[in-house]
Amino acid sequence: MKLSRYLLATLRDVPKEAEVTSHQLMIRAGMIRRVASGVYDLMPTGVRVIRKVEQIVRDEMNRANALEVSLPVVQPAELWQESGRWDAYGRELLRFRDRGDRDFVLGPTHEEVITDLMRRDVSSYKQLPVNLYQIHTKFRDEIRPRFGLMRAREFTMKDAYSFHLDADCLDREFRSMVDTYRRIFSRCGLEFRDVEADSGAIGGSASSEFMVLADSGEDAVIFCGTCDYAANLEKAEVRRDIDAPPEATGLPSPEEVPTPGKKSIDEVSGFLGIDPGQMIKTLVFQTSVGPVVACIAGTLEINETKVKNAVGGDWAHLAEPGEVKELFGVEIGFVGPVGLPDGTRIIADYSVNAISDGVTGANRPDLHLRHVIIGRDFEPAIVTDLASAWKDAPCPRCDNGHLEIRRGIEVGHVFKLGTKYSESMGLTVLDANGKSQPVVMGCYGIGIGRTAAAAIEQNHDDSGIIWPRPLAPFDAVVVPLDPKNDQLMEAAAGFYDSLCEAGLDVALDDRQERAGVKLTDAELLGVPVRIVLGKRGYENGVTEVTVRAVGDKQEIPLDETVSAVLALLDEAGQA
Ligand code: ATP
Ligand code: MG
Repeated sequence: MKLSRYLLATLRDVPKEAEVTSHQLMIRAGMIRRVASGVYDLMPTGVRVIRKVEQIVRDEMNRANALEVSLPVVQPAELWQESGRWDAYGRELLRFRDRGDRDFVLGPTHEEVITDLMRRDVSSYKQLPVNLYQIHTKFRDEIRPRFGLMRAREFTMKDAYSFHLDADCLDREFRSMVDTYRRIFSRCGLEFRDVEADSGAIGGSASSEFMVLADSGEDAVIFCGTCDYAANLEKAEVRRDIDAPPEATGLPSPEEVPTPGKKSIDEVSGFLGIDPGQMIKTLVFQTSVGPVVACIAGTLEINETKVKNAVGGDWAHLAEPGEVKELFGVEIGFVGPVGLPDGTRIIADYSVNAISDGVTGANRPDLHLRHVIIGRDFEPAIVTDLASAWKDAPCPRCDNGHLEIRRGIEVGHVFKLGTKYSESMGLTVLDANGKSQPVVMGCYGIGIGRTAAAAIEQNHDDSGIIWPRPLAPFDAVVVPLDPKNDQLMEAAAGFYDSLCEAGLDVALDDRQERAGVKLTDAELLGVPVRIVLGKRGYENGVTEVTVRAVGDKQEIPLDETVSAVLALLDEAGQA
């Protein structure tokens, strides 16, 4: 590609709209432009990178015997009504009507469409297993689109769906997809972990997320410093000392103490001069099975997903202050488990069993209760693990390990769906005995743009992007410093031709620009190898070759330059 004919669109200044590095650098390197919130143009450089990610994904999916299809972005509402997600999906699902007043959605995911495809064309177990994938546009009306391609509303996903006669066959495919994903993200040159995840509302039995480790990540990744246990924060377990409920012998009855305006654990424990671990922290959750009051020791945090699972619901989230006031007539900081209206569902974390003389909200303004104890003063429906994992907590899997926490970006997700869609939508096959069976399904997603963004988060410096070679828009850039010097331009064109013939993606910076501009752009773009031809070097018979990730210039004889560049790129990894 001759840059004189290219739309490079690089920018010197850091764009104000972008908070994270990858978003800033994608704009500055001329990869993307914002059209609307969470909706972007991919510029020529952006397309190059995205196609490289896609090609790695496509290669590895094909290698794993998955078949590429292309499904519509516009999907009829009837399919979503059949699966039950027309009502359940919420506001991320963008709905609209056509001219005949029929309801449609822009597909945020394709379980319905693919289940419909399969039920039309598959009727026998002999046609299974099959794994179908596409690399295509999704639309999700995200509540908070941000970070550019990392959390967009319109974005490209590789989504795959597998179909099996039984759970064992799905297990094998699930493991094969985990291996495939490991290969994909390794080939992209990323540092990642695959972690256990909550199976969530889609209703399945196993789920793993692939996390690229980066400080700017939206998710917390918990892992053991000793063994290979790793999970996301929603799912992470901790080895708990499960105490029996404490004895109340000798403990005075609960007694009100004034705590004017003191709501948080720190404020109340500081004011009363007690250990925060003695506080019975009480939070109210809205869940799909109704409101729930959850208690935990003041030093720990409650995990929403564990609350959801403890009550067997599809979802759970913290109640709004107004909702709490309406339910219990008091502000959030003064709610406690003692004396709540009959029928209130109370659950508690194991840590509450260790509190033999507790302090908690009195369900009256500006008052707390002391001398509170589980069992005598309140009786939770269940006592279980509700705690978010914490740094240095004991590992749930090995004897000596302790948990560490890092930030991660979820780039992929593999998931056992089971028969949720095949049952609701009637996808069955006849088994070997001629008996009708619901098909067992798995689904497997990768965010293509998010993977490119994650690669930038992991690989950049003050001058710009440092692409892992497999994702770079160009493998190499040839930079003649003086565009007025015909001899230099001709020599540069010669290198360009030879490197192109060797099968590389090469840029020739033949623009009528100052040397400084060309070098700055090459660094910003993150091209792995740069070949500079200056007048003096050329006369001395050398080029100046720089590996972007290393930074030092090497002088290389003109006739050895092509082979040296090929060798350097080989070291940097195969595309
Ligand atoms: P998140 O928790 O980040 O919202 P999700 O659980 O909704 O992700 P999935 O439905 O599992 O994501 O989608 C599969 C993959 O698609 C994700 O692993 C991620 O890489 C990508 N993805 C999801 N939402 C977005 C988005 N808004 N923008 C870009 N990529 C996305
Ligand atoms: Mg999401």
